[in-house]
Amino acid sequence: MINDAHCHFFSSRFLELLAPEGVGADEIAARLQWDPPGTATELGDRWIVELDRHNVSRAALIASMPGDAVSVAEAVAHHPHRFIGFFMHNPLGTSADTTLDRALKTLNMRGVCLFPAMHGYRLDDEVVERVFRSAADHGAAVFAHCGVLTVGVRKALGLQSRFDLRLGDPLALARTALGFPQVPVIIPHFGAGFFREALIAADQCPTIRFDTSSSNAWIRFNPGLTLEAVFRHALAVVGASRLVFGTDSSFFPRGWVRTAYEEQQRIVTGLGVRDDDREAIFGSNFDRLFPA
Ligand SMILES: [Zn+2]
Repeated sequence: MINDAHCHFFSSRFLELLAPEGVGADEIAARLQWDPPGTATELGDRWIVELDRHNVSRAALIASMPGDAVSVAEAVAHHPHRFIGFFMHNPLGTSADTTLDRALKTLNMRGVCLFPAMHGYRLDDEVVERVFRSAADHGAAVFAHCGVLTVGVRKALGLQSRFDLRLGDPLALARTALGFPQVPVIIPHFGAGFFREALIAADQCPTIRFDTSSSNAWIRFNPGLTLEAVFRHALAVVGASRLVFGTDSSFFPRGWVRTAYEEQQRIVTGLGVRDDDREAIFGSNFDRLFPA
């Protein structure tokens, strides 16, 4: 069984929110050489066809701009047994608390995604505590992007991305997460460059999991580090039960990034990970975190 904990839902609305005023979603898609996403329902249906093609059971779809949870909610509503919804949230945005409440309560989102380096706050700030409190109230998870942050689509569109990477500190996240033992926490890409800090944070705070997604190109910042070694160290510190497979798939026509899956399977098999642990990483950990 395969479940993917990290797919971006690049909807038409996402493109409109990202684009300069007055530029339509289809025009942006054309500029990026992507297929036009169509309606959220159409895009969700396309994802289902794609997941079926690769035998992927369920996926977390991430609304990847504040204000786009509604698109993901639409796709999830049509396929509630296949999709769960995550959404990018800016706790410093206008009427942040209302937006958060609406996404978790009305739109049934299962994960709040924080990008502190993008939006400019510390992960041990009071605004993040409020996010955790809300997640606790609604049984949601918190996904916090730490470390290196590059947003390919922003780069491709020439948008300024003056991110403060110091803010993506796993240790600050652990400080907050420790106060909310009922809230599962996901750090994507093993901490994306703050690997050592992510391991320390996860060792200190048992609610922290890593998603394994993306090409993990951040390993180039650690001289000599390989993805094999990343998996080996992560397994040694947090164990298989706290690793959740993901690809970081996003746009069409590329679709689901099978190469990420194959590489990770090859690595995990090469490390001699037991079958039940392998199943946990690639499938059942996700189901336990997010029951259908
Ligand atoms: Zn991603």
